[in-house]
Amino acid sequence: MPNQKIYSGKAKDLYSTEDENVIVAQYKDQATMLNGARKEEVLGKGKLNNQISSLIFRQLNKAGIKTHFIKQLSETEQSNVKLAIIPLEVVLRNVVAGSFAKRFGLEEGVKLSKPIVEFYYKNDDLDDPFINDEHALFLKVASAEELAFLKAQARQINIILQDLFARIGLTLIDFKLEFGRNQAGEIILADEVSPDTCRLWDTDGNHMDKDVFRRNLGSITDVYQVVLEKLQGLEENE
Ligand code: UDP
Repeated sequence: MPNQKIYSGKAKDLYSTEDENVIVAQYKDQATMLNGARKEEVLGKGKLNNQISSLIFRQLNKAGIKTHFIKQLSETEQSNVKLAIIPLEVVLRNVVAGSFAKRFGLEEGVKLSKPIVEFYYKNDDLDDPFINDEHALFLKVASAEELAFLKAQARQINIILQDLFARIGLTLIDFKLEFGRNQAGEIILADEVSPDTCRLWDTDGNHMDKDVFRRNLGSITDVYQVVLEKLQGLEENE
């Protein structure tokens, strides 16, 4: 049935459409952390993230990455290809930050000699644990070839995104991706790419991402607005 809510997530609600292969993602005015343990309404966040995510997906599509993004429908909605989501969070790190800094007792801000890709098992009840390839194979979430493909995709997307953000004066510290399989079993980039899922630092070391909310550093919408405007400026000049 079209227009039925098929999933309610922390940052987005998903709706069915007349086409069984297409869904509508509606970005919500909500910020969460600690797996939803802290949750706040943030007016205007949905439309900022939908616009940023749409713009980044357009850039990735243009650079030849297959993504689920079809088009932006409104300020808060975009249409996406319906996929069976692989329950892995694929994290790529260029610079030490967040849980990586904590886990290894390192200072945030140290550049890694080579980007590191990590997998987390997407499972709310387990708080998305850190896992390795052998765990992923044991859990049957993906084959060895698919895991290799996910890592290669993350590295390729990293090169595109690093360049994109560098052009607006931001350093891509780390980010999280999710992928899904289409009807043909092909693996395609899914979910969102936004300051909710990427760490972005400006040249003065200011956090231009969800850490503003996580660490109570100021207004998250003010910061996301700056990121959106810079990206829009870039897109207009193309
Ligand atoms: N991330 C995300 N969703 C999650 C966990 C992490 O989008 O559920 C992103 C986060 O924004 C950062 C990167 O993945 O860009 C690495 O996050 P980290 O493991 O350092 O965890 P955190 O410190 O955010 O808890």
